[in-house]
Amino acid sequence: MNVLVLLDHDGARLRPTARELLTLARGLPGAQVHAVWIGAAPGGETRAEAGAHGAAVLHHVLVDGADEHLTASVAEVLETVRTEVGAPLLLVSSTFEGKEVAARLAVRTGAGVVTGAGAVERDAEGRFVAGKTVLAGTWTTRCALTGPFGVVAVAPNSVRATPLPQAPEPAVVEHRVQAPAAARAVTVHSRELRPTSDRPALAEAEVVVVGGRGVEGDFSAVEELADALGGAVGATRVATDEGWIGHEAQVGQTGVTISPRLYVGAGVSGAVHHRGGMAASATVVAVNSDPDAPIFEFADYGIVGDLTEVLPALSAEVRRRRG
Ligand SMILES: Cc1cc2nc3c(=O)[nH]c(=O)nc-3n(C[C@H](O)[C@H](O)[C@H](O)COP(=O)(O)OP(=O)(O)OC[C@H]3O[C@@H](n4cnc5c(N)ncnc54)[C@H](O)[C@@H]3O)c2cc1C
Repeated sequence: MNVLVLLDHDGARLRPTARELLTLARGLPGAQVHAVWIGAAPGGETRAEAGAHGAAVLHHVLVDGADEHLTASVAEVLETVRTEVGAPLLLVSSTFEGKEVAARLAVRTGAGVVTGAGAVERDAEGRFVAGKTVLAGTWTTRCALTGPFGVVAVAPNSVRATPLPQAPEPAVVEHRVQAPAAARAVTVHSRELRPTSDRPALAEAEVVVVGGRGVEGDFSAVEELADALGGAVGATRVATDEGWIGHEAQVGQTGVTISPRLYVGAGVSGAVHHRGGMAASATVVAVNSDPDAPIFEFADYGIVGDLTEVLPALSAEVRRRRG
């Protein structure tokens, strides 16, 4: 059984989510993993990394006639490769782009789609079943894909990427795909890389420290703890609306959806609109001066205290333990 995986990459190296998807795909019973890399050819080290995480075949695809990053182009590529290899399942990461690609493919092929999934398995009837939390984390659901082809967009950090101790390099298959009319109708005038930061990308980070109204405009203690833990910095809408931090840091229903292994909320009340974007976090730690704050109802660990005292103490202890 062939399983397709769309590889997120930065032009040279796999992104962490790509390694996670490969690890997940190779664990499905009887799966042969076909990874799809769109753009200039990956180098030997990257091919080896894809192989080590489970790719048996690497489809290297160049797009003619339009920008390869456009989701219409990506959907065309995936449909071409899928038709060739006959895969019943495609895994993409549950990013804005991944979800849009999934939707385009569903419209074109009638595929069933599950987004924001935390797990994928095969049931006794051979169907793919994706698990996800919904309604601000209050329900866990399992969705079976019943058609001949399904797409699952998997939330970052749902799987721990683990390389195989020994794995051959994947066989490389070259493709050239003509961009569809929807992509050719778009002209990309410029593309700017986000300013680089030593912190991981918010949507993909394994650790996220979020500051809310309680920081009262000063994110330094939140940033210090995020850096001590090697994590990303997030914020509630109150904090971004106040202009204390950029809107790209907003976590929640109308912001970024995150699924870290560790979420730390400091001065965050735990409002439902915020919870909607972080409910898939594996472990939730809350620091709040109000013992009745709603966040304590769903936090795994709660510290009642002033964040200006608690966060520096946590950062110091993390640094001490990390030596
Ligand atoms: C349509 C819609 C969409 C929305 N989308 C989003 C979204 O995407 N993301 C989002 O976050 N919000 C969103 N909101 C807003 C959301 O409803 C809440 O208003 C917001 O999340 C609250 O932010 P907060 O927790 O920072 O502030 P508050 O609710 O005011 O909580 C601040 C907390 O800080 C604590 N505190 C104060 N001082 C300290 C201190 N020194 N030390 C420790 N704790 C302290 C307080 O006890 C309190 O619990 C949306 C609202 C609407 C209507």
